[in-house]
Amino acid sequence: MHDQSVDLLAIAAHRDDVELTCGGTLATAVKAGHRVGILDLTQGESGTRGDAATRAVEADSAAKVLGVHVRLNAGLPDAHLQNDEPSRARVVELIRATRPRVVILPFPVGRHPDHRIASELGRDACYLAGLAKYEVAGRESPHRPFKVLYALAYREDPVKPSFVVDITDVFETKMSALRCYASQFAGAKAAGEIHPTGQDLYELIRVQSAHYGSLIRTRYGEPFFCYETLEVRDVLQLGVQSV
Ligand SMILES: [Zn+2]
Repeated sequence: MHDQSVDLLAIAAHRDDVELTCGGTLATAVKAGHRVGILDLTQGESGTRGDAATRAVEADSAAKVLGVHVRLNAGLPDAHLQNDEPSRARVVELIRATRPRVVILPFPVGRHPDHRIASELGRDACYLAGLAKYEVAGRESPHRPFKVLYALAYREDPVKPSFVVDITDVFETKMSALRCYASQFAGAKAAGEIHPTGQDLYELIRVQSAHYGSLIRTRYGEPFFCYETLEVRDVLQLGVQSV
């Protein structure tokens, strides 16, 4: 059995969700030498486009493009995701198996109910995974991720990103990963939390990424939110020009 441990784990409801919201960040972490994983909670069997088998092949291709080391699927019910005890136990099992230091979750508000529930379920599972006496299937020891981040891309909520990751160097990698999902995106005008504007979906992702990049004076970026206050050790190292 190969080692499933990762440094960074992105958890989301549907195959293609993490590519849309944080694919560039995952590719950047891979380039930096970190071990990176993706945990898709469902198999996409209720999606309007494609089917679960097609999306599995697409997800494998996208994972290869991003260079992530592990891609797992929790097999929870698509469009019927629940933050209930069996679902939490399943996600705890997979967090203990992958032992990430940092977890990326969907933003706690979303138009698809699965996105909102994935956020709550993921956060609860991160906590429960560290409880010594919370027993689940598998024999992995307890593990609590150190940091939980929320992917904020495409959200319209009045929440300022806590930070933006510069994805300029890997932007084409992110777009190549998205293009693996032909069943979802070919000819599509909207996806996930992205509302249609009439323009090509890939162009819409590019301009949104350029907007987030502009917030840190770079070409392309992915925004994140975290509840904790971020620590700075040396104010002279702070980036992003003020005036
Ligand atoms: Zn989704």
